[in-house]
Amino acid sequence: MTISPAINGTASGTASQDRRLRTAAPQSGFAPWKDPAKKPIIRFEGVTKRFGDFVAVNNITLDIYEREFFALLGPSGCGKTTLLRMLAGFERPSEGRILVEGKDITDLAPYERSNINMMFQSYALFPHMTVERNVGFGLRQEGMPNDQIKLRVDEAMALVELGKFSHRKPHQLSGGQQQRVALARAIAKKPRLMLLDEPLGALDKKLRNQAQFELMRIQEQTGTTFVIVTHDQEEAMTVASRIAVMNQGTLEQVSTPGEIYETPQTRYVAQFIGDVNIMEGKVVSLPGDGTVDITPASGDGRIFKAGACQGLVVGQQVWLSVRPEKFRISLEQPQSTINVVKGRVDDVGYLGSISHYHVHTEAGNRVTALRANSSQSVERSISWDDTVWLEWPADAGVVLTA
Ligand code: ATP
Repeated sequence: MTISPAINGTASGTASQDRRLRTAAPQSGFAPWKDPAKKPIIRFEGVTKRFGDFVAVNNITLDIYEREFFALLGPSGCGKTTLLRMLAGFERPSEGRILVEGKDITDLAPYERSNINMMFQSYALFPHMTVERNVGFGLRQEGMPNDQIKLRVDEAMALVELGKFSHRKPHQLSGGQQQRVALARAIAKKPRLMLLDEPLGALDKKLRNQAQFELMRIQEQTGTTFVIVTHDQEEAMTVASRIAVMNQGTLEQVSTPGEIYETPQTRYVAQFIGDVNIMEGKVVSLPGDGTVDITPASGDGRIFKAGACQGLVVGQQVWLSVRPEKFRISLEQPQSTINVVKGRVDDVGYLGSISHYHVHTEAGNRVTALRANSSQSVERSISWDDTVWLEWPADAGVVLTA
């Protein structure tokens, strides 16, 4: 068996992260993208953006629906900010169209997109204005009567719980409070679409986690469609109804957080979201019961069984992706020989409620298994240098062809 070095595809790896990655989408039961009768509020149609010879966004077609909290997720330079800036009107597509509520807005300037508001990572607050004046700024620019402005400002500040700071200047606020002022200013205009470019990037981890839940609450209370750009997979998994995982200007997968985690369509997505073990092999048989039998690339005669995906053929090269928590790690050799790997424990990371086991397999690769520490004795029972067996059910592995 070859277990590729593509293990632990991201920097994530703590128990708390792994738990959070499996957080359900915030708006459970909400899935307008599954309803063919629903029209999207945003439609990117074959959108490409070139900067000189460089293609930053490559022929993207994507629908986003009203009331979605939609995340554009990907590593630095993958084109997510460029896509957002084209929606806001700060960049013009080289090819393709952008429609909002059925109207082609491709050629409209940002100020002509009155139903869209963007919150920048830098917050862009006016230092000489009080919080109250900052929040009301856009409304004054629109020429709204003062009494209406006051109502809107009070409402937005109550929503972000900033009321008591209304007379302070931005420099008298913490980073988290400044972020809420910027959010209140954007919300006060009651846009149909709120675009957020790494809105929590300047906050420390604890504040960031709190702010994610605040954003979700505000999005649900206002019913505004949110599109957020982030490179933080944990953040996207926590807040979003759907996530578009981007890679070099293209969309790798657009799915709910649960689908992205449980059924990634490519190795890139599997490795970008959470920890994963990728095992290379070949299809040896398709028994016709919806499963596929795979021989590991080491060719040692063992069989891995998994749910088959469409279009597989015997002899095809595939990769089996198994999340660390799907392995059952044991000191006893399992009776079954299917979906079993033998190895030696290289390393144990005790994280309280959970332990990580790094296992050096007989085939010479390193895999990661997780086990919940439901009692003290469980945590002590497997240790460094122990010979262990890893076993997993057929439905725990995902077969990837790309
Ligand atoms: P990050 O998370 O680092 O902000 P990103 O995914 O948001 O990354 P973009 O800002 O969309 O990436 O940039 C995508 C690519 O396009 C990058 O390689 C970037 O250097 C390039 N790019 C963006 N804006 C311009 C520009 N005005 N001129 C030339 N190249 C640009």
